[in-house]
Amino acid sequence: MKTINIFGVTGSIGQSTVKVLNQQRGKYSIEAITAGQNVVLLAKLAIELGAKIAVIANRSKFDELKSLLANHPIEVDCGEDGLVRVAEREVDICLAAIVGYAGLKPTLVSLKYAKRVALANKECLVAAGDLFIAEAEKYGCEIIPVDSEHSAMAQCLRGSKSSEMEKILLTASGGPFRTFTMPEMKDITLKQALKHPNWDMGAKITIDSATLMNKGNELIEAYHLFPISLEDIEVVIHKQSIIHSMIQYCDGSVIAQLGTPEMGTAISYALGYPDRLSLNFKRLDLFDIAELNFEKPDETRFKCLTLAKQSVTIGGACGAVLNAANEVAVHAFLQESISFLEIANICEETMTRAQSDQIMDQANTLADICETDRQARIIATSLLNLSK
Ligand code: NAD
Ligand code: MG
Repeated sequence: MKTINIFGVTGSIGQSTVKVLNQQRGKYSIEAITAGQNVVLLAKLAIELGAKIAVIANRSKFDELKSLLANHPIEVDCGEDGLVRVAEREVDICLAAIVGYAGLKPTLVSLKYAKRVALANKECLVAAGDLFIAEAEKYGCEIIPVDSEHSAMAQCLRGSKSSEMEKILLTASGGPFRTFTMPEMKDITLKQALKHPNWDMGAKITIDSATLMNKGNELIEAYHLFPISLEDIEVVIHKQSIIHSMIQYCDGSVIAQLGTPEMGTAISYALGYPDRLSLNFKRLDLFDIAELNFEKPDETRFKCLTLAKQSVTIGGACGAVLNAANEVAVHAFLQESISFLEIANICEETMTRAQSDQIMDQANTLADICETDRQARIIATSLLNLSK
């Protein structure tokens, strides 16, 4: 039996992981599960999954967790330090599905103690890509992406030499505002932005998908995961979300991975690799789909994509600045205190100010990244106040 930690078990990826595991009885044993706030669901899952330990990040919910699990042989812990403590347990796989920067530290620590990190928490690579990959190499930890596009890339690269790869074709649904004009985008509501046409996901990534920051984040993610230059990663808008990404090879061949818009396949691939796990999810029906379309992205309307590319070119801790600004801006949009278009503006202005304040030169250690993240959040928050 393989041992697993599931970070962010109560979220969208966490729940899809539980569905995959429920179809693999006897193959995996659950060590730790963690959640941010939802203590009732965390306790329920700990009992159902037979987890050894449950950790709630929010300390004020710890007493509730203790009483919910009082009659069960399950250990409990809390807080950011509690997340790090469970990351220090030796396991076969850590499924990293905390959303945002909050997942960086425990996931970085897991690179030392887990044999494999099944990575959903893409913000780790956006905020600290060079450090994250260097730590994985240092400790010999295998990173298998859970993001559907990167899982597709890994699958399309299987059995081929990465030196023969010419280009990555990173597909994107285009989100709910793909066909909106700029004037129409001024009036986008929270409700509209939270309604993704193809995928059912957590709130933050749903907004990131609407601004195309998610695709920007995925571009940065691909840049760190695969041996490729930024110029050779091309974003392709493909509204049906059936092709999850493609690899173009030096002989002109293009290999694609297809599937229904459902995370179970990518999660099970990251858990089972090099084997494929049997899943009884819905199969792709090509006759039902009938056509697949492709367009170029419009970076005038969706400038987050440009900002993501710039952050790679600038280097250092620029990814940490972009990530922090985006987290602050998306949080404000979710609170309905800024408009949709303001999200990209805040990211852009934070990057400009961070560059002139020279807060992103150092990116060698977690402490460097944390300091840049802290300062970028101060800048972004001050811009929020200006935009009110
Ligand atoms: P979600 O909001 O549904 O779940 C997030 C999880 O993180 C929850 O368990 C929550 O309790 C936990 N969490 C939140 N704040 C925390 C904190 N401060 N400390 C500790 N735990 C905290 O998000 P999601 O959609 O499941 O996404 C998780 C990650 O996976 C994100 O990085 C996202 O970009 C990535 N991802 C998601 C999908 C998807 O289909 N949902 C696809 C690809 C990648
Ligand atoms: Mg994705």
